[in-house]
Amino acid sequence: MLRVGVFGAGGRMGTTVCRTIEADPDLELVAAIDPFHAGIDLRQVAGVQSDLHVAPDAAALQATRADVAVDFTHIDAARANLRWCADHGVHAVVGTTGFTDADFDRIGAAFTDSNCFIAPNFAIGAVLMMRFAELAAPWFDSVEVIELHHDDKIDAPSGTAMATVERVAQASAEWAPDPTTAEVLQGARGGRGAADIRIHSVRLRGLVAHQEVLFGTTGQSLVVRHDSYDRASFMPGVLLAVKAVPDRPGLTVGLDALMGV
Ligand code: NAP
Repeated sequence: MLRVGVFGAGGRMGTTVCRTIEADPDLELVAAIDPFHAGIDLRQVAGVQSDLHVAPDAAALQATRADVAVDFTHIDAARANLRWCADHGVHAVVGTTGFTDADFDRIGAAFTDSNCFIAPNFAIGAVLMMRFAELAAPWFDSVEVIELHHDDKIDAPSGTAMATVERVAQASAEWAPDPTTAEVLQGARGGRGAADIRIHSVRLRGLVAHQEVLFGTTGQSLVVRHDSYDRASFMPGVLLAVKAVPDRPGLTVGLDALMGV
């Protein structure tokens, strides 16, 4: 039985993670951490059964001898939480987005006594969407990405969109030049990711997390689309990572490493 604590336990993802961990027979939810919801009965915010109160800081992980900490917070909080986990030998599973390459280098070096797993997207369908896009890339001349998210998302474009264009650019560097010479409304052609691939970000109330990768070549197009309709879509990936992280030394990035795709 793995003992699991959750950073960001009062947040949208954190509450879902708490319920999911509690419901899994191989895992035990031992700590819920969120400085902004500290003291609150977790039964009220996350609808869990256990009599757990939200703790203000990571000391709760030590007090409850947690094996794994899951982090769905904000980037600055996640950086600090990971430092704590590395220093205290607690494995970490991270869904918070916004890490830079320098962060990955630092985190990789810091986790020596315990392991760390970071995924920009825990939805298994989204991981496959990226893989399918990679496979399609060498066969098409044009590509653009449209990512669509709920209206509380503060960063754009999404980490998944950035990761997608990086992988597509690695799979093919030969893309038709952009024909635009007059951008009548600035930004109309979206932002440029790796290999200048255009990314368009939509923020719309009612959406959760969606992405289309559009490929075109003479006389045909292909659209690879993934939709997360509910935060529950991320939970099978989170469970996979929580159970796998004790056996993966150092830093692992991306759910595809656990799915073997
Ligand atoms: P959210 O609702 O804002 O939840 C974050 C929670 O963490 C909030 O309750 C926040 O409190 C709390 N928090 C802030 N600092 C903390 C700290 N030092 N320790 C513990 N908790 C702290 O956001 P969300 O929608 O759940 O998303 C969280 C992150 O996950 C974002 O980066 C998002 O992009 C990412 N995400 C990733 C995936 C994936 O598959 N990888 C999927 C969905 C979301 P306050 O609100 O009071 O600041």
